[in-house]
Amino acid sequence: IATINAQTIKCEDGKPQNTFANLFRCTNSVNDVIKQHIQEQNDDEDPFLVCDIGQIVRQHIKWVTNLPRVEPFYAVKCNVTMGTGFDCASKGEISKMLSYGVPPNKIIYANPCKQNSHIRFAAANGVEMMTFDNIDELYKVKKYHPNAKMVLRVLTDDSNSLCKLGLKFGASPSAARELLEKAKELEINVIGVSFHVGSGCFAASAFNDAVIVARNVFDIGKELGFDFTLLDVGGGFPGSDSENISFGEVCEVLRNAIDKYFPPNVRVIAEPGRYYSASAFTLASQIIARRVVKRDGGDDGFAGLNDHPSYMYYINEGIYASFNSLMFDHQHAYPKPLAKNGRFFFDGGMNNETEFNCSVWGPTCDSLDCLAKNCLLPQLDVGDWLYFEEMGAYTICAASEFNGFQKSKILYTNTETTELLRIAIAEQNKKMNL
Ligand code: PLP
Repeated sequence: IATINAQTIKCEDGKPQNTFANLFRCTNSVNDVIKQHIQEQNDDEDPFLVCDIGQIVRQHIKWVTNLPRVEPFYAVKCNVTMGTGFDCASKGEISKMLSYGVPPNKIIYANPCKQNSHIRFAAANGVEMMTFDNIDELYKVKKYHPNAKMVLRVLTDDSNSLCKLGLKFGASPSAARELLEKAKELEINVIGVSFHVGSGCFAASAFNDAVIVARNVFDIGKELGFDFTLLDVGGGFPGSDSENISFGEVCEVLRNAIDKYFPPNVRVIAEPGRYYSASAFTLASQIIARRVVKRDGGDDGFAGLNDHPSYMYYINEGIYASFNSLMFDHQHAYPKPLAKNGRFFFDGGMNNETEFNCSVWGPTCDSLDCLAKNCLLPQLDVGDWLYFEEMGAYTICAASEFNGFQKSKILYTNTETTELLRIAIAEQNKKMNL
């Protein structure tokens, strides 16, 4: 998600954020970074994201504290220095991770349906762990990556998740025996079992049930002569505390299930994505146009509670860019007022502004590009700014430049103290024997 680009924002010491090390040296608050950038950008009114690396660090500390037995293989690529592993979906992601210096044994190629040339690339670059859920994949692996360490992805109940990945992936538990027999026949090394309870999972019990399914498949493997050593509990962990379920609840259920069904010599990994990145990103976007909708039959007064929005705000980030998550990730946009006439709401003094019914739209020429149909916002003008929190998961990484609108740039800051950061990195590195 967080590609490390040279950015114009300055660290406290005035140095540009153009190296990875420098990213950690900027310790301004997110609000300060937003304010500084808006005030300095003069005629450049483009939207931008602020990534708080400190928030990713805090999530990581929470992870290692709550799930000490489970090694995270982050599903995207923004915390390489903390010694986590990485779950990659393609040759492109693998190659990016390798270019950042990630050792191949810290990568799992966790896409059960892979292109042949991508499998060859994994083999040539020493990436051995890969998932599979069908027989054809086994023939491909036999041909292109015979030394791979394969992980059987099984289907588990994803009915309590926003994104039901089981529609596309996962061998049903009843098919596991046949798949494992075929792997045996082809002399393919299967090292364990993986599952994904679905992204945006809102029932902790789904993790417990999935661990039981995995246990059963471990037992089938044993009957067939395999010696499984790896359990991969996938993703699906909540990205923020505002979700219907807390990370703590999930951890308690998962910890207990793992300890109950798997002895300590089984290595347990996970593929968290949203958990790490969602809360680390804030998006700021300018109101580039406005349409005032008067109340039916009324005079010039603005409606408060009728069916029609009173203001239609058009901003320069939309559904074809960072807000693609509204279409693809079942998310909702919650616009908040950021700046009005050069003054910032977080500086105080503007809390008593009357709110009106509004709708918020993206910049493209498509009417589908609506971010919020009905929300309450103060009266804002063209040139004022809105912001959106928790914009780090499945946003900019899937953005397009439809209609010629460029993707938002990313500015970085780190609000975590150096000491905590140092401890987190040292702890994880020790665990990973780095
Ligand atoms: N692992 C795999 C194989 C995935 O497909 C995904 C998301 O689609 C993830 C992990 C990350 O899931 P989440 O963001 O819910 O943690």
